Amino acid sequence: MAGRRPPRFPGAAGPIRRPRAVARRILVAVGDWKTIIEPFRIHSVEPVRLTTPEGRARSLAAAGYNMFNLHADDVLIDLLTDSGTGAMSRDQWAAIQHGDESYAGSPSFYRFQDAVQDLFPFRHVIPTHQGRAAEKILFSVLGGPGRAIPNNTHFDTTRANVEATGAEGVDLVIPEGLVPSTLHPFKGNMDVDALERFIDERGAANVPVVMVTVTNNSGGGQPVSLENLRAVRAICDRHDIPLFLDGCRFAENAWFIREREPGQSDRPVREIVREMASLADGMTMSAKKDGLANIGGWLAMNDDRLAERCRALLILTEGFVTYGGLAGRDLEAIAQGLAEVVDEDYLRYRIRSVAYLGEALDQAGVPVVLPIGGHAVYIDARTLLPQIPPLQYPGQALAAALYREGGIRSVEIGSVMFGRHPDGSESPAPMELVRLAIPRRTYTQSHIDYVIEVVREVASHASELRGFRIVQEPPALRHFSARFEPL
Ligand SMILES: *Cc1c(COP(=O)(O)O)cnc(C)c1O
Repeated sequence: MAGRRPPRFPGAAGPIRRPRAVARRILVAVGDWKTIIEPFRIHSVEPVRLTTPEGRARSLAAAGYNMFNLHADDVLIDLLTDSGTGAMSRDQWAAIQHGDESYAGSPSFYRFQDAVQDLFPFRHVIPTHQGRAAEKILFSVLGGPGRAIPNNTHFDTTRANVEATGAEGVDLVIPEGLVPSTLHPFKGNMDVDALERFIDERGAANVPVVMVTVTNNSGGGQPVSLENLRAVRAICDRHDIPLFLDGCRFAENAWFIREREPGQSDRPVREIVREMASLADGMTMSAKKDGLANIGGWLAMNDDRLAERCRALLILTEGFVTYGGLAGRDLEAIAQGLAEVVDEDYLRYRIRSVAYLGEALDQAGVPVVLPIGGHAVYIDARTLLPQIPPLQYPGQALAAALYREGGIRSVEIGSVMFGRHPDGSESPAPMELVRLAIPRRTYTQSHIDYVIEVVREVASHASELRGFRIVQEPPALRHFSARFEPL
């Protein structure tokens, strides 16, 4: 994938780094070539099924136009999520053979714990079957009516788990983070003034934890700077509020810090991750993202009393404290994945290959969230489909069209996902995005070139697309199972 100059960021103080210096570093890193290749070769292959336009139209109608209801067999390129969908390495599969399934005290747990603490030296590491289980436990202890939990942007399951306790989830990302076309190197940053005001208004006693999501998934996969984390830390210290990371994409975030934050370019990624950890009191994690595993997660923290309460809940719903709903072999796969995800050749390829897709769409005039995020390209459906009002779900219309046209599965991140509120009311989300999430180490450049072709084709007749109405929806997290009808 061609190494191009990095974008400049007019919002920041000058270009982030001199393009020539960047180009030189990339060249040195891969020999003397411009093309950044996949740093692996394929070891076992999984066939994808070619589909027909008529078959796709049928599948779409049968699924109620909801991508989550499709059979994956009917999907050609699956960009629904990067969660648990990546390819594991040879060494991860080998580690799985070392899985020890002892109910208590499995050596696989200790390998997992060591691997987590090597990057995140929190005193307590509590395994969970995935990220949302960690959220459920944490917010069951810290949430409750009258409480409010700020985040740069809550991920959908995070918000739902906060709200399920009666607490309120509040998004305080910087204003640039809500404008798809604004260039800013750290568009995932928390608005620290807004956070300070918010804590003053609500009273620190009603804010049991401040969360920062790295990278900011719902806000476009955008990174958070160390400087911003330090500023949030200072506010939390002043008010004696713990700071937790939603660390799902910590390695991608650290890579962006290294590439974009002044003074960080020569630090090993591992060290940047440790500094991110040192600024927090704990974390929730889905190992299905930067754990490079197909399942798993954890909750970690320094506070002994909090850990005790969380472990009690863990035993109630997930399992004993040394496996937390996972098999020993899953713990092994995560431990090995954590060693691989901070590899700099991997991260360079990862970030560069996602940018390759985003830049091609941008150059074709398709409105995308800029700069390109770490794990996904987000198409701005509101701008692409101005004829469809937000509550006729332009993102859903685009996602349906991408599937119908080319068998590509994406996901709406807009008013379908965020428009319905706990009081039953509906209002438009701040952005109407369609996310093309890239599974890790899974698709090749020709798969991505095909995706570019299909998106360009759909965009070229965007004015013909129509909106949708919802004919059936559950009370919470409606995007997973709602059914739609074209208008
Ligand atoms: C995926 C994700 C979660 C939830 O993790 P699961 O493993 O899917 O339960 C939480 N926060 C963010 C930012 C995520 O991307």
